[in-house]
Amino acid sequence: MTKGLLQSPELHKYLLETSVYPRESELLKELRAITANHPRFNMATASEAGQLIALLLKVGNAKKTIEIGVFTGYSLLLTALTIPDDGKITAIDLNRDAYEMGLPIIKKAGVEHKINFIQSQALSALDELLEDQSNRGSFDFAFVDADKCSYQKYHERLLQLVKIGGIIVYDNTLWFGTVAMPEESVPEARKPDRHHIIELNKFLAADSRIQISQVPLGDGITICRIL
Ligand code: SAM
Ligand code: CA
Repeated sequence: MTKGLLQSPELHKYLLETSVYPRESELLKELRAITANHPRFNMATASEAGQLIALLLKVGNAKKTIEIGVFTGYSLLLTALTIPDDGKITAIDLNRDAYEMGLPIIKKAGVEHKINFIQSQALSALDELLEDQSNRGSFDFAFVDADKCSYQKYHERLLQLVKIGGIIVYDNTLWFGTVAMPEESVPEARKPDRHHIIELNKFLAADSRIQISQVPLGDGITICRIL
């Protein structure tokens, strides 16, 4: 049993069993079950972070969203189930295979029509979106959960694509708690992305174009509201 970033596995289990799982859609549970067969199943967005993302989507009446990093589609399905029937998600991932693993559940949920899946490097897909002037300031919400070394580059593009008052959420901003560990205690495999996340966190904290809140749910998410 994982403890996420909380004090103990028991506390994490309590949070999930009390507030998250009883309200999680059966379709999202099915998607989690399918994802468990993927060798990299632990890449899926944490259910408790997903629950907060759904709340933010509702509070902001989000209709047009961007998702960078789809994998098997947990956060994508969650978004598709939350936005209105005529909402649209531009979902970008390099890899289509993992998306196709979750696609039968997306179809079963009847929300595939809300999704425009783009198989691409996220940076070039965002630059292409920016070429169309009508996309600028037109998105209500963005969720970023892909290569950590590019988050700052995504941030600059997303600030142009998401409207003022809109939300950008970055996932994994506490990077398994390693951001606060002395370098010598950090497992070697975590070091490169830890460095990128530390730089990102400093950058976001100093960026006067956004209001932020960093929340220790899942692996840490940073919520940015565009000013
Ligand atoms: N949000 C997903 C979920 O809820 O299951 C998890 C996303 S997973 C942590 C990261 C994804 O980012 C992978 O599917 C990977 O293929 C994709 N990715 C990594 N680098 C990318 C890039 N440069 N451009 C587009 N997608 C990328
Ligand atoms: Ca993640």
